[in-house]
Formats: sequence, C-alpha cells, structure tokens
Amino acid sequence: MSSTINSIRGMHDILPSDLAHWQRLEQTVKDVFASYGFDEIRVPIVEKTELFARAIGGATDVVEKEMYTFEDRGGDLLSLRPEGTAGVVRAVLQNGLLYGAPVRLWYQGPMFRRERPQKGRTRQFHQFGAEVFGASGPDIDAELMAMCQRIWQALGLTGLRLEVNSLGTPQERAGFRDELHAFLSARKQDLDEDSLRRLERNPLRIMDSKNPAVQALLHEAPALSDHLGDDSRQHFEEFRGLLEALGIPHVVNPRLVRGLDYYSHAVHEWITDELGAQGTICAGGRYDGLVEIQGGKPWPGVGFAMGQERLIELMRIQSESARLAPHIYLVMAGEDVVRAGMKLAEQLRTDIQGLRVQLNLGGGSFKSQFKRADRSGAALALVLGENEIQSGEVTIKHLREEGGQKQVSLPALEDWLRAWMKT
Ligand code: ATP
Ligand code: MG
Repeated sequence: MSSTINSIRGMHDILPSDLAHWQRLEQTVKDVFASYGFDEIRVPIVEKTELFARAIGGATDVVEKEMYTFEDRGGDLLSLRPEGTAGVVRAVLQNGLLYGAPVRLWYQGPMFRRERPQKGRTRQFHQFGAEVFGASGPDIDAELMAMCQRIWQALGLTGLRLEVNSLGTPQERAGFRDELHAFLSARKQDLDEDSLRRLERNPLRIMDSKNPAVQALLHEAPALSDHLGDDSRQHFEEFRGLLEALGIPHVVNPRLVRGLDYYSHAVHEWITDELGAQGTICAGGRYDGLVEIQGGKPWPGVGFAMGQERLIELMRIQSESARLAPHIYLVMAGEDVVRAGMKLAEQLRTDIQGLRVQLNLGGGSFKSQFKRADRSGAALALVLGENEIQSGEVTIKHLREEGGQKQVSLPALEDWLRAWMKT
C-alpha cells in the first residue's frame, strides 16, 4: 500500500461541516457591500513578482520573506498573490476603470504568505477587501468604517474595537523615520532580532512589533503625530468627526502602523481580544501614493482587507451564545401574575418574529429571579408584578449594558422591543 499525501503545512481544507459559517459570512458581506454601491472585481491569483515588490515595498516582511515565488517555464518570475490591493490597482489601470472615478470595488479570495503557521495565521488564507479610487476623503474613509460596522452587526459579532491612527504623508513620515531611527539606534541593546533587522530598512515597522519589551521601549519614543502638517491633521480630525457622527466608537492608537509600505493618512484596524495574539480581523487605510507607484496618475485610494478565517473563528466563539441566549427573561412576582406573564410571552413571540423569550419557572424572590435572568444570558429582564399589571406597565431592565430600568406601557411594549431589536 502506498502512503497518503497530505496537504501543504498551513494550507487547509474547508470541510462541509464548516461551510455554513463560510456561506453565511460571504452572503452577509456581499449584501452589505452592495448596499453601499460597491462592484465586485476578480483578478488572477498569480501576478508578476515585480508587481508585488513595487506595490508592497521591498522592505516589508511580505516581500522579503513571505511570498511564494517561482520561475515559470518561460523564465518569468511570478508570485502567488499575498494580498489583493496590488492586483486590483493593476487591473484598474490596465482596464481604464479610473475613467469613471470615484470607483468603489470589492474582491474576495485566497491569499498566500509563507509565514510560520500558528493560531490565526495560515499560509493560504482568504480575504474580503474593498478599494475606492479617486476619492480623497475623509468621507469615504468613514463610510468604509460604517460598512465594516454594519457587517459585524449583521453577523452578530460584538466586542470589536476600532483603532485608528494617521500616518500623514510620505514626506512627513520621512522626518519621523529619521528621529525614530536615532532613538532606536541608541537603544539597540533592548531590541530583538526582528527589530534590529527592521531598524535600517524600515524602522516604522518596529512600532508594529508584538514583543512587549519592544513595545515598552516605544512608549518613550518620538511621536509620529508631532510630524504631521496642518492638512494631515485636518484630514484625520474630519475622519474622526465623521466616525463620531455615525456612532462608530474608536480609539487613537499612536503606534498603529500598517505592515505594507503604501499607506498614508488614516489607517485603521478592527481588533478583538477573543482570538489571542492574532486579534486583528480587518485592517486598512488610505494609500494615495499607490496608483502612481504602479504607473498611473496620482489617484487617491483607500481600502481595507478582512481575514475570513479569523472572522469565522470569532463567529464560532460568539455564535453559540448568540444563538441560544434569549432576548428577554420574564421576571414575575405574585401567583396571579404567572397567567398574565405567560399570555404576554406568547403574544410577544407571535407578534415579533424571531424574538426569544425565556419565562421564569418556579417563582422565587426578585433577587433569585434576577440571578437566573443573568445566568440565562438574556439581554433584558422584563418585570411583571401586581403593581405593573394594575398600572398596565412593565419594567424593563438592561442586563448586559448600562441603561438602568424604565417603565413601558403594555400597548407600547411591542414597538419598544422592535426598535430595541434593531439596535
Ligand atoms: P498581521 O499583523 O496579523 O500579520 P498584516 O498586517 O500582515 O497582519 P494585512 O496584510 O493587513 O495583515 O491583512 C489583513 C487581514 O488579513 C489581517 O488583519 C488578518 O485578518 C488577515 N491575515 C493576514 N495574514 C494572515 C494569515 N497569514 N493567516 C490568516 N489571516 C491573515
Ligand atoms: Mg502579517
């Protein structure tokens, strides 16, 4: 009997048992992209190595050591795509799509990087990405973040943190680069091997280090924000103002840089603490210089890419509780209240499609009922007591967030719940 041949390390099958998650993610993302007027584009998985070297930058981990590169039979140097943006920019230029700028595009598919396989890091992985050309922002930058937030909400994902920073212009960054280089050169003994390698070629990447000792050192390092000019500052402040207006919470992380060289102005990452060290599920920013680097006119560009595997892992972690947790735990005080409570629960289930209501069973004090309500994972406790029945009101208490408690009249309850379910 001959031995079996296994898949390449870091390149995984997606099994039928997992495909429900994949399909749900893909359908959701496509629907949301469409609702913002984005069109799909599909580009080849293999491109000339030179395309990635030029677009991503020679002094990046991706080009230095992560690409799958080979010579084809004709002697051309080709690479499996490590990311989507370079190919999309090429396609946009080659096919004259900028003629209709601004253009909003999205893509999806496998990417390849020869990294050390570990949790959250594989050698073939999948990304969804969006790219917008011909809009200098910051309105479009903010719209992209609204689009992301809508995707998380549609998937029922919670606990994602948006971190933002401004990288300014390449000129502004050059001044900072020199200062950072001087600061870190004086502290070489505290740098790890990775950082030492980056020091001469691309010191900004050291800010991206995952090593806590290096991060501690960076707390005293010069700040990039001190090098930003008025225009860059204004662009960033307007971006943040729009996020605020759209109700998108975010934090400024002054050490946030992107792994690829072509970014400028606002950059962003959506991060979860539930996936361990590889917690970034979506990352991107503005890359106003990229189209020109690729041989086009200096068109502004902005975009992001989200890692599908990490998103699916998060869906797996969060969906069980999301699927089972009731929206409402019905707390009932008093013998006669149970009948009214059960009727109310039935009525709500009939009238509000998808509403999950869990009834308290076996009586008990308010205190013990609230304990059970908490354990059930419900978002709301609805309290029905004799007082409430007499006054024709229920008391609603938020169990998972601040919000105190409020009285809602029974006739207004369904409207209140419908509005709440939409948030
Ligand atoms: P990281 O710091 O995690 O290496 P990166 O800067 O290399 O990220 P990007 O090139 O910005 O990542 O890719 C965007 C997203 O694609 C990441 O946030 C992540 O979700 C996903 N991603 C990147 N590399 C991998 C990988 N090797 N395996 C799985 N997902 C990945
Ligand atoms: Mg990486």
